Amino acid sequence: MTEQQSSTIAQLPVLSEAAQQSYPTATLYIVATPIGNVADISVRALHVLGMVDAVACEDTRNTGHLLSRFGLSRPMIAAHQHNEREVADKIIHRLQAGERIALVSDAGTPGVSDPGARIVDAVRAAGLRVVPLPGASAAIAAISASGLVNDQFHFVGFLPAKAKQREAALLALLGTSATLVLYEAPHRIVDCVAALAAVFPPARQVVFARELTKLFEEIHRCPLGQAMAWVQADAHREKGEFVVLVEGAPATGDAGDAEAERILAILLAECSVKQAASLAAQITGRKKNALYERALQIKGDAG
Ligand code: SAM
Repeated sequence: MTEQQSSTIAQLPVLSEAAQQSYPTATLYIVATPIGNVADISVRALHVLGMVDAVACEDTRNTGHLLSRFGLSRPMIAAHQHNEREVADKIIHRLQAGERIALVSDAGTPGVSDPGARIVDAVRAAGLRVVPLPGASAAIAAISASGLVNDQFHFVGFLPAKAKQREAALLALLGTSATLVLYEAPHRIVDCVAALAAVFPPARQVVFARELTKLFEEIHRCPLGQAMAWVQADAHREKGEFVVLVEGAPATGDAGDAEAERILAILLAECSVKQAASLAAQITGRKKNALYERALQIKGDAG
């Protein structure tokens, strides 16, 4: 972009349009913030962050730094996962007094694998207004750049940290036909890929969306069978932030098949193949023999 183009952007009428819109008082504004690239904040978000009486945030240092990048400074209220309920009361009290309050998380959209949902629930239950200001979310950015063609996705977020619970969670997702969207912390990416490889067939496509919007952004798609080699090919890969997308299960006929498969996978985490097939037949009304065959396949894929 030339200098002339960037100064034209600074003068665009849309910037003053944001200022002229209506921003009711006694309202909680849910403001999405960038997931890496600070320039990804919206015009409306900046306007609201500049006008609210206070910003409720996960970490006052992070949010203070973000605000200062835009020449803003606002009183802040610490609102993290350990104090959401108490802070909700404080926010409700201030909103009832006619204030405008913004809620942000450290990065991306509040309430999406981040604190915020309890506060929003309490504010709505108190009959107060909640207005979302949409923006960055790592899940949506990853889906949009994945090239996985599927109109449906299933947001999983973080898998359980403990191996047994993680395996059970993945088994329960085996028959899901929607694209699976996982968040993973850098130090657990190897464990996550190992767990996926232990449960899902090696031919399933996976997409790693790493360090989105940042300097070392990488988006890599490969069959699950090749995923561990890719992650371990470069020591830096175990350091970045990841969204992992897993291609959905192939359509197997009617809609009931996916549900039967889901139930079978859950049961297989706890029972023998024979017991799982028998219980799944009782739950779904499907033929035990067919379920037994499918259970053997699932076990085979997982082994
Ligand atoms: N609320 C956020 C959102 O809307 O995306 C997610 C917050 S969650 C605590 C953090 C996780 O989001 C990370 O562990 C990673 O899985 C994902 N994430 C956040 N920023 C990312 C980025 N720039 N690139 C890839 N994944 C990212």
